[in-house]
Parts: sequence; structure tokens; C-alpha cells
Amino acid sequence: MRDGEDGYDLVVVGSANADLVVRVERRPAPGETVIGTGPATHPGGKGANQAVAAARLGARTALLARVGDDDHGRLLLDTQRSAGVDTGGVLVGGAPTGVALVAVDPSGDRGVVLVPGANARLTPHDVAAAGALLAAARVVAVQLEIPLETVAAAVREAVRARTRVVLNASPPARLPAEVLAACDPLLVDGDEARALLRDAGDPAADSAAPKTWAEALAARGPRSVVITLGASGALAAGPDGIVHVPGRTVEAVDTTGAGDAFAGALAWRLAAGDGLAEAVRLAVRAGAAAVTRPGAQAAFPTARELP
Ligand code: ATP
Repeated sequence: MRDGEDGYDLVVVGSANADLVVRVERRPAPGETVIGTGPATHPGGKGANQAVAAARLGARTALLARVGDDDHGRLLLDTQRSAGVDTGGVLVGGAPTGVALVAVDPSGDRGVVLVPGANARLTPHDVAAAGALLAAARVVAVQLEIPLETVAAAVREAVRARTRVVLNASPPARLPAEVLAACDPLLVDGDEARALLRDAGDPAADSAAPKTWAEALAARGPRSVVITLGASGALAAGPDGIVHVPGRTVEAVDTTGAGDAFAGALAWRLAAGDGLAEAVRLAVRAGAAAVTRPGAQAAFPTARELP
């Protein structure tokens, strides 16, 4: 199926949340109640976001996730389908859909309470049952908003099927060596890179140089490493050494979801056969496009909208 019409460029194994966004004058102190406006409900979660980001660019994409049998779950399924994502692998029920309660103050700073809900019920068994889906993909993309043992199961299935693994270690967590060894690339932003290094007791965490983080992360076992650097672009550390891809100068309106736009685009281009640095160049453009519009999924570009 790998080279056939029926395969997928990308199967995303990850979270799907409803983001409930309220606007406040300032975020509440302990014990305090503040008045806000909203809520606005948006589809989110790193898995759902990255699937939409890739599909919008033209990738044949499927999502393996779990949502609740509720309105939020239906919103997530609808938005995935509208973006062209195959939702046959989205499991429904077992717990309410995951929710992110987001309070945004006038400066744009966000405070978030994440309730994993159904995401916490996506099990290694669910992944094993979807083995054929994972085997039909050129790339499997995972993030860390689902249980770590489920991430490990997805990586194991991908390795068995010789499918490339793009692992976005967000939020950062200690990864088993077998998972780390399969990452091609391990994808993190600068804060996550330092958190992983700090957790490993690696002094490179104290460096201010992204190149040092990339070298130190690469030495921990992944096949390649990509570090996103906001407006400064990204670093790719792979077979050709370390390449810095500068950022695109754009008018940033809202950086929410920039990392997911980048991840979806990166996975898409790797599935299409691009080399790592080439794929990162395209992903930097996708991330830049995403920050020029408000929201996460709503801001993800089509291929034509890339700067
Ligand atoms: P977020 O958590 O906000 O989704 P992140 O921390 O995971 O983002 P960033 O490194 O901030 O990831 O951004 C990902 C990519 O998006 C960058 O590599 C870059 O290509 C693009 N990007 C982000 N911010 C800007 C900006 N202000 N101007 C241009 N491009 C940007």
C-alpha cells in the first residue's frame, strides 16, 4: 500500500481538544474571580492541529485520536473532515473530549488549563488495532499530549512497518531510548530543547546557543533533530550537519499554533521525499504564514498561501 493510491503521506497519532478561549483584563490570582468575555470554542490539540496543517497543504492525511461522544468531539471530527483529513481512525467515547481552558489577557499572554479527557484514554491497544493505518503511511507524526506508553506503541508500530517517525516532544517528557532512537527528526522548540537537556543533566541546557542544543540532542540518539526558533527560523541537524534556516520576516498577528503549522508542513515534505533541510525550509514558510492570521487551525496556510 505504501506506494499505492490508497496510502497516506501522513498519519498523525495525537491529541484532539476543544480550546475554550476567554478574554480577561488580567488572569486571576489565587482565590480571585475575574470577569471575562467569551468563550469562543475552537478545535485544537497538537495532533488535530498538525493533521489539519498537513492536509491543508495537500498531504493525504489520517488522524488516530480519541474524542468524547459530545459536541466538542463532533466539532473536532467536522473540522478534520472539512480540512480533508481521514477520520476513520478517530475513536469516539470513553471520556469527554479533552478541553483546553485558555485565558488571554490584553497583552496576548495566555494561561491554560488542559484537561486531557479522552486523550488520556488513547491506549497502546488502540494503536495496535490501527496497525494497518500506520503501515499505510510514509510518515507517522506524534506529539506528547497522549499517554507516553501510547506514543511508544505508535513508534514501535511505525518502526515495524519501516515508516518514518516525526516526534514533536511537546510538552517535553523523558523519552525511552527506543523511542528516541526512532525519531527522524526529534522536533522541539528552543524551550523544549533546553527542558529535555536539563532533564538529562546535560550542561548544554545552560548554553544560549541553539547549535549547542542541537548537537547535544543529536548525541542522545535520535536520527535527526529539528529545533524551531520562532521569528529566527529553525535549525536542522541531520546527515548533512547542522543547517540554520532563517525565519521569514512577516507581520506577526498571533503565534498560536505556529509550531503545529511547522510540524504538519515538515511531516508532509518528508513524506514527499524532501531532504531534512529542504523540508525545514518549507516548514519555516508555513510557520511564518500561520502567524500572520489569528487563531491556530484557522490560520494554517494552503500551499498557495505560503510566503
Ligand atoms: P507555538 O507554541 O506558539 O505554536 P512553538 O514554540 O512550537 O510555537 P516557534 O519556534 O515559536 O514554535 O515557531 C515555529 C515556526 O513558526 C518557526 O520556526 C518559524 O518558522 C515560524 N514563526 C514563529 N513565530 C514567527 C514570527 N514572529 N515571524 C516569522 N515566523 C515565525
